[in-house]
Amino acid sequence: MTVTLLGAADTLDRQSGRRGDRAYLSGLFRHREARVILIENLDPLVRAASPEHAALIWFPASEILERCEANSLLFLGISKGDGVPHFALRLALDQREAFSRIYPLEAATDFRTLASAGTLTAADLALVGLSRSLYAWHDSARHCGFCGRPTGTIDGGWKRHCEPCAKDTFPRIDPVVIMLVTDGERCVLAHEPRYAPGMFSTIAGYLEPGEDIAHAVARETYEELGVTVTNVAFYNSQPWPFPHSLMIGCVAYCAPTLLTIDRTELVEARWFSRADAAHMLARTHPEGLWVPGPQAIAYHLIQHFVAWT
Ligand SMILES: [Zn+2]
Repeated sequence: MTVTLLGAADTLDRQSGRRGDRAYLSGLFRHREARVILIENLDPLVRAASPEHAALIWFPASEILERCEANSLLFLGISKGDGVPHFALRLALDQREAFSRIYPLEAATDFRTLASAGTLTAADLALVGLSRSLYAWHDSARHCGFCGRPTGTIDGGWKRHCEPCAKDTFPRIDPVVIMLVTDGERCVLAHEPRYAPGMFSTIAGYLEPGEDIAHAVARETYEELGVTVTNVAFYNSQPWPFPHSLMIGCVAYCAPTLLTIDRTELVEARWFSRADAAHMLARTHPEGLWVPGPQAIAYHLIQHFVAWT
C-alpha cells in the first residue's frame, strides 16, 4: 500500500471559463457517463469495511438526480482524456438515510484518516480534498460580508453572489509557510501541543498581509525558534484541505545555534541529525519519535534533507 502526497487536483480539465454557463453545466450533468462523489459534512462516502480498505464511490449522475436535490452540486471538471464530467454533491441529513437503505455498505469516512491510510488513488484523494475545501468555504460564506444578506451559489459552486450588492465572493485559500530549518548538517523538528505523543514535524505558520514567502518564513522561524534564517529556498507546495490551506514548503538556512523556543506554540523543538531524521521517517527512532506520513509535505521536506549528500 503506497501513501502518496496529498496533491493538486490536476487530473481534470476544470473548464473554469465555462462554469458561468448554466445550460452547459446542466448538459454535462445529464451526460450519460457523468459521475458524482457524495460528501457528508466534509467527508466522502466510501465503500469500506475500514479506512484501510476504502474505495471512493463515483455514483452515476442519473442515480443522484433521482434521489437528491442538486442545490449543493459542485462542478469539478471533465476528464482530460474522454471528457467525462465529474461532480461532487453534499448530502443533506435526510438524504443520507435514503442512501443508506440503497447502498448499505457505504459510510462517510474521516478524510484525514483516509489520507493517511493511502487507499484512495492520488487523483480521487485530491478531488475529495478539493470538494472539502469548497464546501468548508461555502459554510463560512453563506452571508454577504458587506450587507449581511444571504448569498447564492453560482458558477458550478465556484462563486457566491449577493444580489443586493451585486458582489461576488470567491473560494478562500489560506497560504501557510512550512519550513525545514537547517544548519546544513542538522534540521529542527518540533512538537506542538496538538500532536500525538512522539510526533515531531517541521514548523509552519500563516502568511500575513504585506509579507512575501521569504519574509513569512523568517518571521515565523524567529518567533517559534528564536533563530535568524539567512537563506530561504522554495521546495514544493501542497493544497491542504483542512479546511482550505495552501502549504508552501521551503528550506531555510541558519547558523548552528541554540534554540529559544516559543512555549505558547511549541512543547519542544530540537536539532536532529540526518541519521535521527531518517529513523523518524522510517519510524525506527530509538526514542520512539516519528514524523508525519508521506501524505504530508513535511515528510517530503524531511526526506529531501535526509537525502542530501
Ligand atoms: Zn450584500
